[in-house]
Amino acid sequence: MTTATRTEELKALAEKASAELADATALEALRWTAETFGDDFIVASNMQDAVLIDLATKVKSDVDILFLETGYHFAETIGTRDAVATVYPDVKIVNAAAEQTVAQQDAEYGPKLHDRDPNLCCHLRKVVPLRKTLSNYSAWVTGVRRVDAPTRANTPIVTWDDRNGLVKVNPIAPWTDDEFNAYIDEHGILQNPLVGEGYLSIGCAPCTAKVAPGADPRSGRWAGKSKTECGLHA
Ligand code: SF4
Repeated sequence: MTTATRTEELKALAEKASAELADATALEALRWTAETFGDDFIVASNMQDAVLIDLATKVKSDVDILFLETGYHFAETIGTRDAVATVYPDVKIVNAAAEQTVAQQDAEYGPKLHDRDPNLCCHLRKVVPLRKTLSNYSAWVTGVRRVDAPTRANTPIVTWDDRNGLVKVNPIAPWTDDEFNAYIDEHGILQNPLVGEGYLSIGCAPCTAKVAPGADPRSGRWAGKSKTECGLHA
C-alpha cells in the first residue's frame, strides 16, 4: 500500500470514528484505539500525572508512552516519569529528544533561547521530535481536555491530525476538573509533586510558574510572554 493510500484510509477511519465515538467514554475511546491500531499507537504524557497512562493500561498494559525529553524538565517531572515506569512496569516509555542537546542549541542560537524566541525553542525541542516520533505510528492519544483553554473548547474525541498525518484520540476531552480530580483520588493515581506546590500546568522549568489560587491553570505557562501553546496541539 502506498503512503498516500494509507493516509487516505486513516483519514476516512478518523472521520467515521469521530462521529461514532463523539459521546464515547474514555475507556470506550481507548478500547477502540487498541482494537483498531494494536501496537501502532502511542500515548503522550507530560508527566504531570498518570491519569491517561492509567486509563490506557486498562486496555493495553504494554502501551507505548511518549515523553518529550526537552532537556529543560524539572527534576520532579523526570522523577514522575521514572515512577511511572515502576508503577506500570509493562509500559514502554519512548523518550523523544531534540536533535541538539541544550548545550549544542545554546552554541548555535545563543543561551536561553526560550526567553528570546520560545516559539523556535518549542519547535526545535518539542514539535520536531514529536513529529519524528509520531511518524512511526498510525494514531496518538493525548490528555487534552476542553476545559484546558478556550482554544481547546471544541476538542473532539477522535479526529484527523493533519499536521502530523495520523489519527488523534483525546479520550478525556469532555472531562471536567472535578471528574479529573475524582479519578485521581478514587484510583490513587501518581501525580507530579509540583502540582501540590501550585504548578497546575507543568511544562519545561524555564517556562513554567506557580499559579495563584483561583487563576487559570495555564496562566503559569510562558508567563509574561505572548505565547500560550507549545504548538503540539494547534
Ligand atoms: Fe523551550 Fe520553554 Fe518550549 Fe521548553 S517550553 S521547549 S524551554 S520554549
